[in-house]
Amino acid sequence: MDINLRSDKPVLVTGANGYVASWLVKNLLDAGNTVHATVRNPDDKAKVGHLDKIADNSPGTLKFFKADLLDADAFDAPMQGCEIVFHTASPFMARNVTDPMAQLVTPAKQGTAHVLEAVNRTESVKRVVLTSSVVGIYGDAVDLQKTGKAAFDESDWNTSSTVDHQPYNFSKVEAEKLAWEIQKQQTRWDLLTINPGLVLGPALGATQSESMSIMQDFGNGMLLMGAPKLEFGMVDVRDVAKAHILAGFKADASGRHITSNLSINYMDISRILRKNFNWKYPFPRMAAPNFVLWLLAPIFGLSRKFVSTNIGFPLKFDNSYIKKDLGIEFMPPEQTIVDHFQQLLDQGLIKKRG
Ligand code: NAP
Repeated sequence: MDINLRSDKPVLVTGANGYVASWLVKNLLDAGNTVHATVRNPDDKAKVGHLDKIADNSPGTLKFFKADLLDADAFDAPMQGCEIVFHTASPFMARNVTDPMAQLVTPAKQGTAHVLEAVNRTESVKRVVLTSSVVGIYGDAVDLQKTGKAAFDESDWNTSSTVDHQPYNFSKVEAEKLAWEIQKQQTRWDLLTINPGLVLGPALGATQSESMSIMQDFGNGMLLMGAPKLEFGMVDVRDVAKAHILAGFKADASGRHITSNLSINYMDISRILRKNFNWKYPFPRMAAPNFVLWLLAPIFGLSRKFVSTNIGFPLKFDNSYIKKDLGIEFMPPEQTIVDHFQQLLDQGLIKKRG
């Protein structure tokens, strides 16, 4: 597929320093675009310095703008003159969530409203690409049974998450629903969503993304006593970035896009790690029995409801639409896992052994 990935107008990326967004910014700069990058603090070199380096080595131009999702007016200035808006910023955390409304739901929803209200005020914008998630499609793995289908597809919506149960999932589905509501009230700009599964693969900069913590768990012994029988959709961060840029530039693309390469579980990942690294790392060697996990759930920061609605249930996604609509071909999952773990070793985030 031969698609022009360069605009003569600037393109906006919110949360540009994030794990997913950094790869998107790199793709946009490599294609020669002028990227208006919103971040919370443009002076925080530890968080944005990697983007400066990428820009220095690319034909594109990078301009930082300061914007917090909770600030209603922050997105007007960076959006001036843009035709394409990539809205990726949203808190992604599953640990240390003490106030899910304040930490997750409010920034996700208000942020989406603030960005899209700015889009409504900015005549140049023609398209918005929103980073949603597969958790906009489903809430708990058990929900698949209720669909009567073998796999979730883009017609499905998460109806089971609440602020008290799976609050991150709730934040994502609420934000996506709001985005479609706002979009339907006008005709100047269209909306496409990228709905990734768990994103893994190497990071370009420092990030707090939960994706990092999950891969670190494999090397720090967290799962040595037994890995949960939890299945999830997985996709490489480089493929997610590619999906975003194609969604932004492919004129006839439309709608929601499940962006998951395959369904995989903890022990599958452990087997790939054991094959490519060695037994000296404390990779999980067995799955934890479901009843043990149920009993010990609170110790691991999981609710018993989460265990009984997710552990041991098959979770499948139909990813045929993104392949057709955006022409995406996913990279081999083994490469995703090996590249990611190798980066953690190289950065000293996991101690090298033998
Ligand atoms: P990340 O590295 O933590 O990126 C999140 C971005 O959102 C960061 O730039 C962060 O800024 C920004 N952000 C959070 N709260 C903000 C606020 N109040 N105001 C302004 N910016 C704020 O995580 P990620 O994995 O790249 O996630 C990016 C997007 O992908 C999110 O929408 C997430 O829901 C979605 N997603 C991720 C995955 C995954 O597995 N990683 C899967 C599906 C969907 P700071 O750096 O300043 O905190």
